[in-house]
Amino acid sequence: MDHLLRAADEAGTVRAFAAVTTDLAGEAARRQHTFPVGTAALGRALTAAAFLGANLKGEGSVTLRIMGDGPLGGLLVIANGRGEVRGYVKNPGVNLPSVRPGKLDVGRAVGPHGSISVATDLGLKEPYTGGAPLISGEIAEDLANYFRVSEQTPSAVALGVLVGTDGGVLASGGLLVQLLPGTDEEMAARLEGNLGKLGQVSRLINAGSSAEDLLRAGLEGVDCRVLDRMELRFRCHCDRDRAADLLVSLGREELAELAESAEPTEMRCHFCNEVYRFTPEEVRSLMDKAVPGGDGRGPAPEG
Ligand SMILES: [Zn+2]
Repeated sequence: MDHLLRAADEAGTVRAFAAVTTDLAGEAARRQHTFPVGTAALGRALTAAAFLGANLKGEGSVTLRIMGDGPLGGLLVIANGRGEVRGYVKNPGVNLPSVRPGKLDVGRAVGPHGSISVATDLGLKEPYTGGAPLISGEIAEDLANYFRVSEQTPSAVALGVLVGTDGGVLASGGLLVQLLPGTDEEMAARLEGNLGKLGQVSRLINAGSSAEDLLRAGLEGVDCRVLDRMELRFRCHCDRDRAADLLVSLGREELAELAESAEPTEMRCHFCNEVYRFTPEEVRSLMDKAVPGGDGRGPAPEG
């Protein structure tokens, strides 16, 4: 089972997260029929969002948006504080040759120019949103830059997805180590050294490393303890009622047009690819709830 660990040192100057997300990345790839480079990009983003969600310690959700200028056309991932993660890549069918054997060109697929943003919704008021420019499109570096620029927290991030020759996910996961105010230079240098010799996290996980093992390697020589452990899973929150609400939001005129069609109207969830079908009669019955011109929310049910 995919899982995430959160750890900190006694003094509260170092915080670390480690996760194994092999099943999560694999399920997202299967649902969205991604090609390998999209599988890798999405898997990395899912792990990144799981880290951000773990910071919520319970309620609320975090939306991670990575909008690059590459052919993948952007990624959107949502995680909550209970280990439920979902996400999609806009153009899953992008296929790029590997730069070298075993290294998918995620940076070029995502695109080196653009932005990374994080919206934290605690259900109380407007979500808090922070952002930063992309550095490389490789996602780990971009997330580290986000933490530095937007949250003033020096961070080291390692994210990796190993895609097999059949296109399935062999291993996925990551490690995030953050330095909080009060960290001395010696500690910073030690952590930098640890991460420098860590190697690719996806290969470590494929060789059997657990999240505990990743933490132990990343935090060698630092007196940290595990604060909590959370199971992670792909979970979408879409349902037929929500799909119907989105149809209603199109407005009365558009519904009237759809109701004229002999074919059922299909609403597809971006996140899980579930399709909700509405017969012309059902579409007609929704017209009473709709306002002329729609409410501008658009046609896509976003779970
Ligand atoms: Zn869905």
